Amino acid sequence: MSARSYRGRFAPSPTGPLHFGSLVSALASWLDARAQGGAWLVRIEDIDGPRTVPGAAAGILATLERFGFHADEPPVWQSARLEPYRAALDALVAAGHVYPCGCTRKEIADSQLRAHQRNTTLIYPGTCRNGLHGKPARAWRLRVPDDAAGDAPNDAPAAAPNPALIRFHDRWQGEQTQNLATEVGDVVLLRADGQWAYQLAVVVDDAAQDITHIVRGADLLDSTARQIWLQQCLGVPTPAYLHVPVVNNADGEKLSKQTGAQALDATRPHEALPVLVAAARHLGLDLHDAAPTTLEAFQADAIAAWQRRLARLPASST
Ligand code: GLU
Repeated sequence: MSARSYRGRFAPSPTGPLHFGSLVSALASWLDARAQGGAWLVRIEDIDGPRTVPGAAAGILATLERFGFHADEPPVWQSARLEPYRAALDALVAAGHVYPCGCTRKEIADSQLRAHQRNTTLIYPGTCRNGLHGKPARAWRLRVPDDAAGDAPNDAPAAAPNPALIRFHDRWQGEQTQNLATEVGDVVLLRADGQWAYQLAVVVDDAAQDITHIVRGADLLDSTARQIWLQQCLGVPTPAYLHVPVVNNADGEKLSKQTGAQALDATRPHEALPVLVAAARHLGLDLHDAAPTTLEAFQADAIAAWQRRLARLPASST
C-alpha cells in the first residue's frame, strides 16, 4: 500500500483573536507541511457555542493570511459538520463503544475519584456503564478499556499488554504512554448541554479531511491518547503527532485569551515579520536571517531551519 501524501492542518477555536501562542502552533504546522511538500489546511473549531466569539473566526482567517499562511483548501467550519458527528456517534452506539450517562458534575465530584497525576482532572467512576438507574440521559460517554494491571496476579507472566495503556511516538516529545482507565476515564463525546465535544469532532474531522500529520501545542498532548482510542473505535487511521512547547505568559501560565494574550494584527508585512521571527525562535529554529525584509525570505529560511530542527528530534523506537 502506498503511503498517504502529507496533509496537515491548523485548527483554531474562535474564542478570541489570534495571539502569539496560537501563531506558534500555526507556524509549526505550516512549516512541517511545507518542509515535507504537503498540503496545509485550516479548520475552524466553532462548535463550543458558549466559548465561540462572534467575528473571531473571520479575524483569525484574515490574520493568518497577513502572516503569509495560505491554506491549500477552503477552511472547514465544524459548525457546518454536525451530521458527521451524529453519524459517528450512531456508529459507536451500534458497536457498543458508548453509553448514555445521567451523572451530574456534582455527583462525579462527590465520588472523589481524581487522577493521581493531574489532580484537577476528575476521573469518571463509570457509574452509568451498566445503565442509567432511572436517571435521565445527560451526556454520551466513550468506554475506555479497563486497566489490567490491578487484576494480574503477581506471578502472572507479563506478556499480555494492558489494554488501558495507549502508547504513541510524538515527533517532538518522544515516546508517550497514558493509562486511559486510571488517568482519563470514560470520555464525554456528546455533552449534557447538547454540544458535540472537541474530542469527537477533532477525530471525525481529522479522519474526514484525511489528515496524516497533526502538529499542535503541547497542551493537547494529554488529549492525544483518548483521540487515538477513539480512532481505533471508529476504525480510522491514526495520524503522526508532533506537539510543540506552549507559550507561557510572565506568570508561567499558558498564553490564552483568559491569561491576557494580546491580539495579533499585523496589517502590513513588515509588522508581521518580527512576530514571525519571535515565533520561530520559540520553536528553537536557528534562522540565518534574524531581520528578514520579506515574508518569502522568512519562509524559506524558516522551512530550512525547521528541517534542521527535525533532524535533532527523538527518533521513533518503533
Ligand atoms: N481547537 C483546538 C484549540 O484551539 C486545537 C485542536 C487541535 O489542534 O487538535 O485548542
